[in-house]
Amino acid sequence: MQGSILIDMLRLRSVMAEDPKRVLPDAHFYQSLNTNGLKTIRELAVFRFTCRKCEDAPCISVCPTEALEKDSDGIIDRHTNLCISCKSCVAICPFGTMMTDFFKHHRNKDLLYDLKDEKDVGKFIKACPEGTVELTDSDESPEKNIYRLNEKVLIRDYLYK
Ligand code: SF4
Ligand code: SF4
Repeated sequence: MQGSILIDMLRLRSVMAEDPKRVLPDAHFYQSLNTNGLKTIRELAVFRFTCRKCEDAPCISVCPTEALEKDSDGIIDRHTNLCISCKSCVAICPFGTMMTDFFKHHRNKDLLYDLKDEKDVGKFIKACPEGTVELTDSDESPEKNIYRLNEKVLIRDYLYK
């Protein structure tokens, strides 16, 4: 696959705001791994770019299973084996960082795509709301709120510095 996949989190959030119960497609790079333990691209992007990295993070303290902690860079890391998808962290985050459908995808494989598989990349783009995901030859562009998550994925979002 040439270029990068650009995921527009700002547009995806608008779509979710219109219908908070909607579960949108998501994607991962975990080919052949057990998908029960995966973290999706949107989850990785949100904790890396959008999260305000609160000092006394309420998401961590509210979690009933101690599934959230900060890694050495201060980025929230969810231990998928502990998370029971209660969504208390989603509700308590004062910045609305997380999306309401975040922790459902391991149970909803019809909406989950493998970005290591070129066919799945095409299916993922088709399944996402129009204008939210595209292939691009462009690179990071902070003036357009576009940042690189990894070698294949660019994210458009407001970056918290
Ligand atoms: S409460 Fe929200 S903004 Fe604060 S650390 Fe948790 S996810 Fe990030
Ligand atoms: S969904 Fe519930 S169990 Fe999972 S990380 Fe959030 S608060 Fe913890």
